[in-house]
Amino acid sequence: MDRWPVVEKDLSTLARPPVVADLDAERASFTWEAARARLDGLPGGGLNIAWEAVHRHVAAHGDRVAMRWVGKDGTVVDITTAELSRRANRFSNALGALGVSPGERVFFLLGRVPELVEGVIGTLAARCVASPLFSAFGPDPIAARITIGEGVVLVTTASLYRKKVAPIRDRLTSLRHVLIVGEGELPEGTTSFAEVMSAAPDTFEVPPTDPEDMALLHFTSGTTGKPKGAVHVHQAVVHHAASGRFALDLQEGDVYWCTADPGWVTGTSYGIVSPLVNGVTLLFYEAEFDAETWYRTLQEQRVNVWYTAPTAVRMMMKAGAELARRYALPDLRFVASVGEPLNPEGVMWGIEAFGLPIHDNWWQTETGGIVIANLACMPIRPGSMGRPLPGIDAAVVRREEDGRVTPITDPDEQGELALVVGWPSMMRAYLHEEARYAKCFAEGTDGRRWYLSGDVAKVDADGYFWFVGRSDDVIKTSGHLIGPFEVESVLMEHPGVAEVGVIGKPDPVAMEVIKAFVALKPGYEPGEAMRRELLGLARKHLGAVVAPKEIDFLPSLPKTRSGKILRRLLKARELGLPEGDLSTLEPEPVR
Ligand code: ATP
Ligand code: MG
Repeated sequence: MDRWPVVEKDLSTLARPPVVADLDAERASFTWEAARARLDGLPGGGLNIAWEAVHRHVAAHGDRVAMRWVGKDGTVVDITTAELSRRANRFSNALGALGVSPGERVFFLLGRVPELVEGVIGTLAARCVASPLFSAFGPDPIAARITIGEGVVLVTTASLYRKKVAPIRDRLTSLRHVLIVGEGELPEGTTSFAEVMSAAPDTFEVPPTDPEDMALLHFTSGTTGKPKGAVHVHQAVVHHAASGRFALDLQEGDVYWCTADPGWVTGTSYGIVSPLVNGVTLLFYEAEFDAETWYRTLQEQRVNVWYTAPTAVRMMMKAGAELARRYALPDLRFVASVGEPLNPEGVMWGIEAFGLPIHDNWWQTETGGIVIANLACMPIRPGSMGRPLPGIDAAVVRREEDGRVTPITDPDEQGELALVVGWPSMMRAYLHEEARYAKCFAEGTDGRRWYLSGDVAKVDADGYFWFVGRSDDVIKTSGHLIGPFEVESVLMEHPGVAEVGVIGKPDPVAMEVIKAFVALKPGYEPGEAMRRELLGLARKHLGAVVAPKEIDFLPSLPKTRSGKILRRLLKARELGLPEGDLSTLEPEPVR
């Protein structure tokens, strides 16, 4: 993908200079102790995410808008830091009144409404564990997660409860309380959120919290199989704070919009915690994707920093850059993306549409925060995930026969992406799955202990990381190891291609042959002519061995609810194999 020109930037034109002026210098001087020292710590000792995010700011910045909620109908509600703190305090007290003890799990099944943020902060302050679920989940995925997490409280709405929870309520044996947000009649066996809140005092003293106390339980996206419940601790806030500044360029006073749903780790780490800790106004936007209303929101809310995902970028590309250019966005300074590889086409499209490249970054539920990123100060190599943040040691590694791993030093040689253990937001467990957790770590032949990500990548001579694919998705064909991302990125260059997923299909001669599934933009016809065009493009850029042998057209590709293309499902359907865990599958659009 190095045929794409490097995107150089003129930093002098930015309204605010980037937090990091030089990544190498920042890496050299960075220590986690210094990052921790930027936070306050609890007055009574220890470290608590809620204190760092909200309560500590009240004395000096109580009237700062902590959260601006934009409702589906366009209603805008500003909530100051002091107000958010009081509401969170009420929730902390309400949990106490309900007999919920520190360490117990509080689940949230809500859309993007202010009660979610208040509830998560209140839960963390009370030293209980917050676990937000995606509100579009059906009854079975909800039951599975609350059961794994032994949820004692569920906060939801009456309609979500009736549709999704009532049918499974008798299976949720750990659940003691259901709190209903919103007006209307309470379903049987539930309590009004508003009532418990108004009965609770609005002052609360955050108890001493051990930085290693469990704080958040997040389930993985389920792209490769059954979702895992990753456990994160209060100490993670050190990383949430630092990485928000480094990778998202969050600066005090910014207006920041993270489009991820809090049901996924991005929506909590960077949708709630990181902006609040860094004194940034978080825009909490209730509605789902619609290109036009998104652009209008960026304009009207004068968003400075925007964090979104490749799936949204692809949808915006489908709607055309022309539409984006109708909106003037002079306040927008930095745009970033996470969740899937961002094709070079997507990076460059940002320039066409907003005058700003899109900065890809890489992390996982397990890493708890961004670890590899394209920083505001860095030239972008389109298609690369960027470089490791200060405090992060990353490499691609080779597994040895004795089970240890060796960092690969040859540039461009592929290996498993791995991180040296020790950053604060690293998961502390997969809940109730010790063996699966233990498999994520290995001793290095260099004497260090490594976390193994399950993704395959390579590192170029300048230290930029390039995603190749998930280990499960990497294709072995005619003696070559090929990552789907490279093939997909070339097909994405065709103006008619909206989405593409590439798999390996077993073949007696070549081991595997490459097959591509393509969804076209409106106005383009699937058929033999299009297939020939795409094959021609692929052969030209990839050569005959790496170009797909087969191309199928689909109206859209199967995706997880967090927007990731499910290659394993494309493959299972192609081969007539069992479809596996589909609890996070996004329903396919009705046509
Ligand atoms: P599961 O672990 O349940 O299969 P998942 O891996 O999709 O699901 P997440 O933790 O939400 O669950 O996603 C992390 C994964 O997403 C990464 O391991 C990687 O495969 C992919 N990913 C995230 N960001 C990027 C990126 N910038 N480039 C390429 N891949 C990315
Ligand atoms: Mg994963």
